[in-house]
Amino acid sequence: MLIIRVALDMPLSTLFDYVLKEDIAVEPGQRVVVPFGRKQVVGVVMECAVNSELETERIKPVVRVLDEILPLSAELLTLLRFCSDYYRHPLGATVLSALPVRLRSCEPVAFKEALQFTLSDSGRALDLSLLHKRKVLQQRILSALHAGNMGIAQLRALSPGAPTALKALLRAGWVQEVSVASLPDPVLSPGKGRLTFNNAHTLTAAQQQAVDAVTQSSGYGCFLLHGVTGSGKTEIYVHLMHRMLQQGGQVLLLVPEINLTPQLENYFRSRFPDAELVSLHSGLSNGARTQNWLRAQSGRARIVLGTRLSVFTPLPQLALVIVDEEHDASFKQQDGLRYSARDVAIFRANQRGVPIVLGSATPSLESYYNAQSGRYRLLQLTERALAAAHLPAVRCINTSNTFMRHGISEQLFTALEIRLQRGEQSLLFINRRGYAPVLMCTACGWVSDCPNCAGKLVLHLPDKRLRCHHCGHQVRVPHACPGCGNADLQPVGIGTQRVESALQERFPKARILRVDRDSTRNKGMWNAMRRQIHDDEVDILVGTQILAKGHDFPNLTLVGVLNPDSALYSSDFRASEKLFAQLAQVAGRAGRADKPGEVLIQTFFPDHPLFRSLREHDYNAWAKTLLEERRSAGFPPFVYQAMLRAEGKQESEVFRYLHEARTAAVALLHSGEISGKVDVFGVVPAAMPRRANHIRAQLLIQSTSRKGLQQFLRAWQISLEALATQKLRCSLDVDPLEY
Ligand code: ADP
Ligand code: ZN
Ligand code: ZN
Repeated sequence: MLIIRVALDMPLSTLFDYVLKEDIAVEPGQRVVVPFGRKQVVGVVMECAVNSELETERIKPVVRVLDEILPLSAELLTLLRFCSDYYRHPLGATVLSALPVRLRSCEPVAFKEALQFTLSDSGRALDLSLLHKRKVLQQRILSALHAGNMGIAQLRALSPGAPTALKALLRAGWVQEVSVASLPDPVLSPGKGRLTFNNAHTLTAAQQQAVDAVTQSSGYGCFLLHGVTGSGKTEIYVHLMHRMLQQGGQVLLLVPEINLTPQLENYFRSRFPDAELVSLHSGLSNGARTQNWLRAQSGRARIVLGTRLSVFTPLPQLALVIVDEEHDASFKQQDGLRYSARDVAIFRANQRGVPIVLGSATPSLESYYNAQSGRYRLLQLTERALAAAHLPAVRCINTSNTFMRHGISEQLFTALEIRLQRGEQSLLFINRRGYAPVLMCTACGWVSDCPNCAGKLVLHLPDKRLRCHHCGHQVRVPHACPGCGNADLQPVGIGTQRVESALQERFPKARILRVDRDSTRNKGMWNAMRRQIHDDEVDILVGTQILAKGHDFPNLTLVGVLNPDSALYSSDFRASEKLFAQLAQVAGRAGRADKPGEVLIQTFFPDHPLFRSLREHDYNAWAKTLLEERRSAGFPPFVYQAMLRAEGKQESEVFRYLHEARTAAVALLHSGEISGKVDVFGVVPAAMPRRANHIRAQLLIQSTSRKGLQQFLRAWQISLEALATQKLRCSLDVDPLEY
């Protein structure tokens, strides 16, 4: 009789024992269907054993062994065990959450041979200029296929309308389907094909040094690639990838935003046209995600490009991990398994014995500190790769003695005007969508509070609504003050819509485009907007952080930053770190090509070290200042933290739970079981103390030793599980980024 221990998606930290009746071979990592209560569920075999602690009669038999896909590797299971233990999340839930949804269900899955599309003889002979002018998309597809075969995902990345156009081309007989299996895999079958590499540039000396440092190291090594915007980090990734692909390895490239993946996908495909690349992110359909995952597991996909969830992809030939924009907070999952994909990636590279490159223009303080202390190797690029592209000139406009119109100073208006005259683009950055963050009564001081949250309702003018950005509550803008009846209600502060209308008023002829979550809500909108910007159909861009990241707009020469100051006195100690990163990113949008860029920052505090470092493009000085602050205040990266959070409708319940948890923590510290020094702070309301009618509070635990904190958390969790938590949502967040 064989007992197997199975991981199931349950909020319990145990595995579940089942018995295998017949002598079917199973191995750890295999999926099985087992009975659970009245249902049948999918689980993953974690261990095989000959006996169980349960009485034999009580052990239920396995219903079915699912063997249509390969078992998860022992390596991946170890990684998941580590994550479950480190992040204090049930093992079963951790293991199952790493699988694409389809693989968590009992339905059979089949590995679909990917189809590719190729030009037929008649398609190749076709004179494109004879094609009807209106069939622009068909023309684009045909000319793209001239460069090589493409899969449906690649075609879709050309345009969302590609599948329809493709059908027409297939019907006309100009394009044919071929199965990928019938083509030699250029990487897996040496001699049959070659790995084409479009080497766009000769590396600069600094780039070459960075590439050499990574390729010459052997085994695991963590490299922090700190390069200013435009210094050619992507080019370094490409060269490293080429090296690893040539040797038959797979590469995992983690990126922060789904928004950016289609562009990046196309870009890397163009550099390695015949290495199979798949993307993995939450924007894919369940079917596509499963197929891409399987292609990675089979080893056929050589490059996996994905957001944080892709860090758990099985990669039998993994040879290199790259985390681009490693400082980005989106690498941290904020619910369920609260992992940091960057940190898991580092564990994974270490486990596998391969190099990992963390790239950023503004590294996280954690990574920078690790590079300073020698745990990571620091690779720095201080200049832009293109000789002609200089870093922009950054200046501050002191707003304490300046008249502002809708949040814009005269100096900034003038700078915009100059760009309009020269036919260059400008960007105004403001991290607030809507028209104004709050509406106020001038007579009685009434403000537009959200009835459900400890926040304000934001004024959205085009649709005349007050809207809460936390809980979604919305009402029509009142005609008069609900408090005193006064009709004079004033918007206070500025948002993107207000800036947009102020610009329209001042520059009636200018083409202004607002880019924020409201204007890009519909799928494909942002893509269309990007095209407009590239085609020079826009003079002034107004937008939030969506605009800051990774986009290259060659004709953009001015960036204005409207009101960055609130981050300087935020209660979140990471706010100024984030602000610097954001402003350096957004400043990096100016003057990418041959035209010099200028950045104007409106601030009350032009002498603040943050702005001084930005002006001097001196991240190192800024990081040094911040590290000193953190060291003396005893904040990360000098300590390790965990946050216990609770929220519920009853304030008393929330606090009772946290106080009991705190009592248990203190008792544990006095018990002598814990060897390291651990600090237990007081129970305090969350930064947003009420959201969607739930009271929120938290308890911070911290230690100067990661090991000490882990030992404490393991013991503490046992006490936490014994506490009553009905009607509460509780979570433990290890290495929290939000407070
Ligand atoms: P980053 O990722 O550091 O912001 P990119 O890799 O996007 O920088 O490079 C910025 C620009 O410089 C791109 O237009 C790229 O094509 C160009 N570039 C990169 N490396 C080189 C090089 N060695 N020679 C010439 N141009 C380069
Ligand atoms: Zn009033
Ligand atoms: Zn609300």
